[in-house]
Amino acid sequence: MSGDDPLHRPGSADDAGPYDVIVVGAGPAGLYALHRLRGLGLRTLVLEAADGVGGTWYWNRYPGARCDVESMFYSYSFSPELEQEWEWTERYAGQPEILRYLDHVADRFDLRRDIRLGTRVSAAHFDEAGGRWRIRTREGATLTASYCVMATGCLSHSRLPAIEGLDDFGGSVYRTARWPHEDVDFSGRRVAVIGTGSSAVQAIPLIAGQAAQLTVFQRTPNFSLPARNRPLDPAEWTRTKRNYPHVRELARQSVSGVPQAPHAALGSALAARPAEREARYRHAWEAGSLFSFADTYSDLITDSEANETAGDFVRARIRETVNDPAVAERLVPRHYPFGAKRLCLDSGYYETFNRSHVTLVDLRSSPLTRVTPQAVVTGADEHPVDSIVFATGFDAMTGALLAVDIRGREGRTLKAAWADGPRTYLGLATAGFPNLFLITGPGSPSVLSNMIVSIEQHVDWIADTLQWLSLRGATSFEAAHEAEDAWTAHVDALSAATLLPRAASWWTGANIAGKPRTFMPYLGGVKSYRETCDAVAADGYRGFIVT
Ligand code: FAD
Ligand code: NAP
Repeated sequence: MSGDDPLHRPGSADDAGPYDVIVVGAGPAGLYALHRLRGLGLRTLVLEAADGVGGTWYWNRYPGARCDVESMFYSYSFSPELEQEWEWTERYAGQPEILRYLDHVADRFDLRRDIRLGTRVSAAHFDEAGGRWRIRTREGATLTASYCVMATGCLSHSRLPAIEGLDDFGGSVYRTARWPHEDVDFSGRRVAVIGTGSSAVQAIPLIAGQAAQLTVFQRTPNFSLPARNRPLDPAEWTRTKRNYPHVRELARQSVSGVPQAPHAALGSALAARPAEREARYRHAWEAGSLFSFADTYSDLITDSEANETAGDFVRARIRETVNDPAVAERLVPRHYPFGAKRLCLDSGYYETFNRSHVTLVDLRSSPLTRVTPQAVVTGADEHPVDSIVFATGFDAMTGALLAVDIRGREGRTLKAAWADGPRTYLGLATAGFPNLFLITGPGSPSVLSNMIVSIEQHVDWIADTLQWLSLRGATSFEAAHEAEDAWTAHVDALSAATLLPRAASWWTGANIAGKPRTFMPYLGGVKSYRETCDAVAADGYRGFIVT
């Protein structure tokens, strides 16, 4: 490290850079990146804003938080020993168990010695003369590295809406994505939950179990499927463990990153007889899986009429579950296609609205105007509450990246480069920002897939690339503008052929005022995406400029 660039962190003599790689973030992506890159002999340091590892599972400690991809598959595949020794207790593990798992990974692979916790990266500037990234932290340190890997997460930049009067609210305020570490007890309290996305859908039944009164403030109803969570059957677990190599390969070769047998042609929902369609949807509903409807018919996300058949099926289940027809109608999503906002998986969400102390407020008919010291105000109504829980989501996919002042060639900011929406080549790199890698960046399957599968694929690809560069003595690796243009157009074309951009979802950036509206994740599926990445590498990193 140069003399004018000291690391202002007392007692860290080991931090004398420069590093080969700095990884930002110690969630599932950062942890695996460190393990893999260190294994190549690269001097790697991870910088993490939180006081612990685990990313999503460190921050989101709200009641009911659990994965909605089965734990046997939402787990690393890189170590057969880890696979065999870890015991999941539930089909969908809860947050404490997932965090224990990630802590175990950090210990088992001796990762902590190269992770700086409580360190938020505020800026990353590419120094063209030196061919290095200069990384500044909010705590005042500056470090340098040949490569910078952003493992900052697609759903880590949480948002709190600006609501008049919130600062003067006299009760307690919580955010699902920044939940306190100590137990929160809502017993005897009147609680407001704002938002009805996946986080709220998980938290609401548990909060209702404690609170004296619960008022749910809903702006847009979501489609939620029953999780059918259960303790893991030891026989099933043993079978999966025995078959792990095969199971993992099925997941890698699937559309969504979960082990699915390759589809026979599914056919159109419109060609099926109503009774047959109903039976298929019933089967999907019983499966307790986010991906089960994708296994019914091939045109659910491309044809409005076909989509309506699935939407109608789920709407009927909501009406069947909720006793009060007026409440049921408010919970029924009808203004966007089924699956065009990310589906939720729940345990008793709709049933919760049958409880006498639970009220649903429809913000479409009566918008939230302000908060007083004792109440949430919607239209002319005051709802007195003691606690407010914000489950209002994230500035997804680009939020955590753009929160860092990233500057590439000629000092150009990433914010400027992405002013009209994110532009990447393969979701892994962006033109004008040499030696910068994005893990599960926009333009990759990321949030449409089992994220652990996508994370492992990206980390492996990046590790192989760094090894390839090192063997050639190359020091600069950068996406070419033409390759980026073509990939961005391809990502857009795939989504434009579906109904998915029609909803105001976080996939499109519509949940953030002023955010450019583009469908950010890659819709081509995990298998074909992996094949493309591998082909690019095999072809001498076609579309990248290597010097
Ligand atoms: P994260 O886990 O988000 O970790 C990113 C880390 O980077 C964070 O610790 C953050 O503090 C750190 N960071 C960010 N910016 C900076 C900075 N400037 N400086 C320093 N550190 C920084 N996906 C699934 O596939 N299945 C699921 O069941 C599932 N459930 C989810 C449940 C919840 C409640 C949420 C919010 C998301 C869920 N996801 C799920 C998506 C989940 O985010 C990913 O599965 C996974 O955690 C991504 O790992 P990551 O390491 O890329 O990002
Ligand atoms: P989300 O899906 O974006 O939901 C946010 C909710 O808050 C929406 O209902 C939104 O309404 C509402 N909202 C936002 N701003 C508001 C405002 N100003 N006033 C009133 N309502 C407002 O966020 P999330 O629930 O945290 O989930 C995000 C993603 O994280 C999920 O889609 C999923 O990928 C992942 N996740 C997974 C799980 C799991 O089950 N494993 C759990 C949690 C999260 P609108 O819809 O009208 O914008």
